[in-house]
Amino acid sequence: MNLNLSILGPPGSGKGTQASGIVEKFGVVHISTGDMLREAVRNKTALGEKAQGFMNSGQLVPDELIIAMVQERIQRADCAKGFLLDGFPRTIPQAQKLDELGPRLDWVLSMEISEEECVKRLCSRKSCPQCSATYNVLTNPPKKTNQCDRCDSALVQRPDDRPETVLARLKVYNDQTAPLIDYFRKTNRLLSVNASLSLEAVCKQINNLLQSNVSSQK
Ligand code: AMP
Repeated sequence: MNLNLSILGPPGSGKGTQASGIVEKFGVVHISTGDMLREAVRNKTALGEKAQGFMNSGQLVPDELIIAMVQERIQRADCAKGFLLDGFPRTIPQAQKLDELGPRLDWVLSMEISEEECVKRLCSRKSCPQCSATYNVLTNPPKKTNQCDRCDSALVQRPDDRPETVLARLKVYNDQTAPLIDYFRKTNRLLSVNASLSLEAVCKQINNLLQSNVSSQK
């Protein structure tokens, strides 16, 4: 069976962390638009050069660039059994375009959490510049201080996790991304998750939600 999912939530809500567990359990491909863009920036591609300024200031990269990047990615053969989009769609036009061009999203997980908790989490987040693994120095630290468990690289703070940029990203989320909750509720694809609980509790909730809904898939 083919399963197309998206995980939606403010920065710091745990989308990336939970995405890793979902792809393992449901055998779908993890597609993080943020990771793809960061890779493009690292490799200094034309897309990376265009995206970098927007990303560092916490703004969204223009819809047409993102839509083209995602469309190219989800047409590849490895997505035939389904995918989990992490960080896309982030605006109503992105969601409309995906609905128009397909493949259609079956379910959207909405990570619900307070702004205060997001700020706390983002400011203590560290990530691996090499493999994109993320850690939280308070709640999910790496085994060795400041060193990635997967590839041993030195961990860094993402430039957009600095406090001033975090506030800009939350504003962008509220203004441009939060309206998607209603968009997906109205089209009967929204699964609400209480994302303020522990990593394990959120993971359990997501598994239960997906298992009960996927079996009754429309
Ligand atoms: P993330 O890792 O998902 O927080 O994404 C990091 C940054 O990449 C965002 O702050 C945006 O600048 C950009 N970005 C990622 N996904 C999108 C998207 N769907 N639309 C526009 N910009 C995006």
